[in-house]
Amino acid sequence: MRQAKGIAKPKVMISEKALNERLDQLAAEIERDYADSERLICIGVLKGSVFFLVDLLKRVRMPLVVDFFQTSSYGTSTKRGEVRIRKDVDVAIAGADVLLIEDIVDTGYTLRTILELLRFRGAKSVRLCALLDKAEAREVDVPIDYAGFTIENQFVVGYGLDYAEYYRNLPYIGVLDEADIED
Ligand code: 5GP
Repeated sequence: MRQAKGIAKPKVMISEKALNERLDQLAAEIERDYADSERLICIGVLKGSVFFLVDLLKRVRMPLVVDFFQTSSYGTSTKRGEVRIRKDVDVAIAGADVLLIEDIVDTGYTLRTILELLRFRGAKSVRLCALLDKAEAREVDVPIDYAGFTIENQFVVGYGLDYAEYYRNLPYIGVLDEADIED
């Protein structure tokens, strides 16, 4: 891919081929588990989950509804655990099976907040599908029902994940050199 000026090329951590193979497996599991569902709502968390959600759900051959949340944490760190909903879903949740689709679970604060909200609104069931699980970084327990890959505690980009809003369109998951990341 052509690089913008001053933008470093990340090293491949999970290739496009490996992503596609895992997505086939996850989609097959989801199709099987929700075969009897009367109303399945798949909810992505903007913006990071978009590439994953689209590729995954194109493989799921059953009727479903797609919607999105957008969150942001107060201050500069999610570590305080306070997460703000910046964009809510448009559809009613009560009585529906909800599958939350996330790019990466790091500390777990973002997802804990969203999962609690969905249960509060009366979802019939709530499950979580996350492409990446940074298990070592977890501060609050959030069970992942469908996990793509468990990765080490390092900063990754690509396939929806950004660094300063760049790299989301990389077709693979990559790692930047320490020297290219400003704290
Ligand atoms: P949590 O609330 O679990 O700490 O944070 C989840 C959010 O933090 C993710 O949805 C993602 O936006 C961001 N995040 C966590 N780890 C990474 C990472 O390695 N790379 C990027 N680009 N974003 C991350």
